[in-house]
Amino acid sequence: MDLKVVKFGGSSLADANQFRKVKDIILAEASRRYVIPSAPGKRNGTDTKVTDMLYEVHRQAERGEDFSASLKKVRNRFDGIIADLGISLSLESEFIKIEADLKKGSTAAYAASRGEYLNGIILAEYLGYTFIDAASCIFFNKDGVLEAEKTNECLKQLLKQYPRAVIPGFYGSMPDGTIITFSRGGSDITGSIVARAATATLYENWTDVSGFLMADPRCVENPRPIPVITYKELRELAYMGATVLHEEAVFPVRYVGIPINIRNTNQPEDPGTLIVPNADDHIPDTVITGIAGKLGFVSVSVEKDMMNSEVGFGRRILQVFEDNDMCFEHLPSGIDTMSVIVNAHDFKPKRASIIADIYRATDPDALVLDEHLALIAVVGRGMVRAKGTAARIFKALSTADINIKMIDQGSSEINIIVGVEEKDFNAAIRAIYHEFVK
Ligand code: ASP
Repeated sequence: MDLKVVKFGGSSLADANQFRKVKDIILAEASRRYVIPSAPGKRNGTDTKVTDMLYEVHRQAERGEDFSASLKKVRNRFDGIIADLGISLSLESEFIKIEADLKKGSTAAYAASRGEYLNGIILAEYLGYTFIDAASCIFFNKDGVLEAEKTNECLKQLLKQYPRAVIPGFYGSMPDGTIITFSRGGSDITGSIVARAATATLYENWTDVSGFLMADPRCVENPRPIPVITYKELRELAYMGATVLHEEAVFPVRYVGIPINIRNTNQPEDPGTLIVPNADDHIPDTVITGIAGKLGFVSVSVEKDMMNSEVGFGRRILQVFEDNDMCFEHLPSGIDTMSVIVNAHDFKPKRASIIADIYRATDPDALVLDEHLALIAVVGRGMVRAKGTAARIFKALSTADINIKMIDQGSSEINIIVGVEEKDFNAAIRAIYHEFVK
């Protein structure tokens, strides 16, 4: 039997009108039994998300300032929704408690979490669903790491008792009961955790776009939507900046193979993007599934004759980065060269120390820095079967007169990464897109 866990983002619950759309969507299918709300988001371009308002309230409280006016604004947002929906619910006692807690020095996470908590109470009332406080079933350890198994067990038992419930996103509790949140956008993770515990057939993530597009619309005019994508492909694209879903949200459902469907609350008739464990029966007509990229990388290339026969050379270079507390992104290498691609923002302040350490550790013939590098990931499960994909990418770039600074094909063969100069970034994405999408 179908069971869907449905998560609604902040823009889907920004005002009463959005709440009405959400209710229609939920009631349209009896299988939509567990609902995860975000806090109310922006109603228009100049609006402020309730989460950000709450962080501001907390900042004022922390500085010992009078935060009553800011907290009142938050209250007005919620009271406005309640009044417009015509439900009889008072948040009076909730706000008295929140104010008292803030005066006692509660944390920023507690303050921020009240956005989803209160929105959850309203939505549960509006739908006639049970409200389950996430603090009672989403557990973190004392270091702030999610306790996945304990959470799963507790949620499973709870959901068995309540066939239809609203569980607010974004937060949970630590062993001493203190509230803690995921990183921003973390309601997506809560939805995934609940989908796993409910053994849902589908995790629907409702937002304000109709799923993933094959490329960023700021680069490519009217890019095609992606109907089906695998978790693996999504991970590659998300890492490179395709942000619709929180990066960590795939893990709980991926673990048990539950698909995620990204849907648009404002256009519920659109099928959106379906994220699946594997899509062998869903071969796209365009060898590639999507393109994403990021600016702001540096390539540190080390050259040394006979490097290939010097045991431990690679380790010594990487040790330098580790000692300087830096992650590396890619590691393309030649016979006598090895390049370490790193994030420019993190690299800049450590640059002098890293260069000095590499000289000391490896005594190189040359060390070349290539700054202002952009990386572009061309991702597609169809690439394993299609020959000549790399050739097509390179031809498209050379026709567009773009110089390739680096190439890296992951061993999974679903991802080819090219490095280009930052100034060529948009043109490169366009050239690759139009090579594969006619
Ligand atoms: N409301 C939180 C945020 O703005 C969490 C979420 O929406 O997922 O980041």
